[in-house]
Amino acid sequence: MTHILNFINGAFSEGAEGKSFEKRSPLNNTVIATVAEAAKADVDAAVSSARAAMKGKWGKLTLADRVELLNAVAAEMERRADDFIAAEIADTGMPAGVAKHMCARGAANFRVFADVVKNVPTEFFEMSTPDGRGALNYAIRRPVGVVGVICPWNAPLLLMTWKVGPALACGNAVVVKPSEETPQTAALLGEVMNAVGIPAGVYNVVHGFGPGSTGEFLTTHPGVSAVTFTGETRTGAAIMKAAADGARPVSLEMGGKNPGVIFADADLDAAIEGTLRSCFMNTGQVCLGTERLFVERPFFNKFVAALKTAAEGMRVGPPHEPGVAMGPLISQEHRQKVLSYYAKAVEEGATVVTGGGVPGMPGEYANGAWVQPTIWIGLGDDAAICREEIFGPCCHIAPFDTEDEVIERANSTNYGLSAAVWTRDLARAHRMAAAVEAGVVWVNSWFLRDLRTPFGGAKHSGIGREGGVHSLEFYTELKNVCIKL
Ligand code: NAD
Repeated sequence: MTHILNFINGAFSEGAEGKSFEKRSPLNNTVIATVAEAAKADVDAAVSSARAAMKGKWGKLTLADRVELLNAVAAEMERRADDFIAAEIADTGMPAGVAKHMCARGAANFRVFADVVKNVPTEFFEMSTPDGRGALNYAIRRPVGVVGVICPWNAPLLLMTWKVGPALACGNAVVVKPSEETPQTAALLGEVMNAVGIPAGVYNVVHGFGPGSTGEFLTTHPGVSAVTFTGETRTGAAIMKAAADGARPVSLEMGGKNPGVIFADADLDAAIEGTLRSCFMNTGQVCLGTERLFVERPFFNKFVAALKTAAEGMRVGPPHEPGVAMGPLISQEHRQKVLSYYAKAVEEGATVVTGGGVPGMPGEYANGAWVQPTIWIGLGDDAAICREEIFGPCCHIAPFDTEDEVIERANSTNYGLSAAVWTRDLARAHRMAAAVEAGVVWVNSWFLRDLRTPFGGAKHSGIGREGGVHSLEFYTELKNVCIKL
């Protein structure tokens, strides 16, 4: 059986207290790996080695050398793509095509941020002084220090490298705490770091849980200069409290309850194809996914019927079977949560358009974390399934009559991560994009990502923006130098 180790100061290690935990397969609930759990002493060692790396060779590299090393990381990840894809599939059960895309994005995260740090200038101001000689101001960026990176399980490699790529590009060292559900790809990245010559201590991985465990040890550690987090909103709030000690900056990418708004003039085929993905991709375990759909009334019945047909046409199954569009949920525990919402929808009086239960799976997969793709109609906006993030393959569809009404309803949530708007009316698209309270708005598309653009959430969905030059704001200290001539 696979045994996953911590990666500290360039070497793989057991936890100092000799503890380990089990990782189960989402496909059949069997134990597929044991994972060395980092103790407080391991987190101390990881943070110390990261601090030492900043003072050592890594901290002294030229920008050009650092950029070259990050491009080498991307190239080595691509060379070992099959290993990353296999590890990601083992941890998550996601279809092979989805895992392939996510792993390619993982490598891209190193290339893109290597380019950003190489090419983005800082500011310069020439000023006059009373003696007429003047002064020059210019800004330089310096690394913030050791960055604690706390990751979720839904797109493990992609979301982890989305933080580690810019953090290292800016010259920091990192200590990563992967989700306890998905430890494998973060550990594998340690092999890549060693293979291409990233100095020991620059990239560290400590495995474990949140409160009272590795996550808490890392976020409360005084040697950690900044914490970047992706996960649930209430976890983000706990991390913000932990980081308040020492006034350390946080970047928080958190939950969503994103609206999809479909106007009657939308291209039906495109809207169905996009909405099918935004509701069911990665078994609905995408922070940007749309669990609340609003469809203009004249289009409502047609849209509901078409989405039902499309959802029922999706094959649910194991990763490598041809034509599989949807895998299992991450775990039995998460399945219980999703199924509790499936039950709650019915209790609250929803009409189940399709799904609502568990698909029959053959023999070896019978104990996997499977659920059916599910569509509901008939509930008010205040129903639990229309307010709370479920993080499963499901959506509620409601009709609307006017643009003002749908803006109000789309915004009537504490979350504000993303929105998808489907319309052929250009002026309306711009009005909607400006009015919806979200960090990311897609018009006639979904999940189309340019990594140079700002990414993050409004309201309870996040604090700060990452992506392109915005990542530099978090991962560097911008220092002004004023020179009197
Ligand atoms: P989670 O908050 O349960 O866990 C995320 C990570 O935090 C895990 O590594 C966990 O061990 C750790 N953790 C938990 N409690 C902690 C504590 N007190 N101190 C330190 N670390 C702690 O989230 P999850 O279930 O892994 O992921 C799903 C959630 O992530 C959803 O809410 C989803 O919307 C959100 N998400 C957001 C984005 C985004 O970009 N905004 C992207 C992906 C996922």
